[in-house]
Parts: sequence; C-alpha cells; structure tokens
Amino acid sequence: MSTSTLAPIQLLPAKTIDGRKPKREEVPGGEVLCAYCTAKCCRYFAMPIDTPTTKTDLDFVRWYLLHDRATVFIEDETWYLLVHTDCKHLQSNHMCGIYETRPQICRDYSTDNCEFDEDAVYEMYFETAEQVAEYMEARFESSDLSAIRSKEPALLPVLQ
Ligand code: SF4
Ligand code: SF4
Repeated sequence: MSTSTLAPIQLLPAKTIDGRKPKREEVPGGEVLCAYCTAKCCRYFAMPIDTPTTKTDLDFVRWYLLHDRATVFIEDETWYLLVHTDCKHLQSNHMCGIYETRPQICRDYSTDNCEFDEDAVYEMYFETAEQVAEYMEARFESSDLSAIRSKEPALLPVLQ
C-alpha cells in the first residue's frame, strides 16, 4: 500500500491596513473580512467530547494531548478536542480549493463570531498532558498521580 505525505502549505500574507492586521471593525465596508485573515478557521478542527467525570476519563484527555497539535478546551461547559491541522484544500492564497463542493460545516460558518480577532479566550484550555495531570490532581486530590507523571531526569553528577 502506498502512502503520500502532504507538504505543509506555504500561506501568502493576508491583506493589511497600514502594514498591520486590522481590527474587525477597521475593515472597510464592502470588503470581506476573510481577505485580512490567513484562513484561521480552515486550519484546525474541533469536536465535542464527553465531559470527563472520572480519573479514567481524564486519562483519555491526557492521552489526546500526548499527540502533536492536539489541544482541549472547554466552552459553555462543553469539552472539545481541537486539532491544529490545515485542511487539505486550503490554497496558499487562503482560498478554498473545493469551494463549490465544500462541506456543509464550512458553508454554515460565518464571520459573525469567528476567530478573526486574536483575543479569543476559552473557559479552560489544555495544551499539554502535564496540565491535565495537574487538573486531575486538583480535582481528585489523588496521591497516586506520580504514576502518570514523567520521571524527573537523573541529576548530572557533581564534579569534585
Ligand atoms: S471566517 Fe473568520 S477565521 Fe475564517 S477566514 Fe474568514 S475571517 Fe478568518
Ligand atoms: S473545505 Fe474549504 S472552506 Fe472547508 S476547511 Fe477546507 S479550505 Fe476551508
């Protein structure tokens, strides 16, 4: 079976105003907000996951975060797995390569509440497995979490 590897896409710079990315409200009327954005919404996918209620559930979340480019966030009390990965059909000019046949989820997406602005914050955001381990510790006050933490590296010998 053959496999293929996609090279990471090289995105062109987005439009700017006075050499910088404008705030949403600075984009001139009649212009498309997306022209000033490097297609942020086409460069990840996120899906809701069951709310973890046990240590075993949280250990699954920790496992997600052992994978490259995976993060987990909570919004409106819902937990989401977010994977930072470019859509295969995103073009270097930030346009959709399959615009006419793009999935419904892309058609339904709107600039109204999109992540164009840089100041989006989540209720909670986990980027590393260690953060989940700390969350588990705080939530369950467990004393056996040493088993899931990486061992500290051996100390270097002290030269006399
Ligand atoms: S919808 Fe928003 S995040 Fe997506 S490309 Fe347009 S401005 Fe960027
Ligand atoms: S199909 Fe098109 S609109 Fe949808 S994520 Fe991919 S590039 Fe973006």
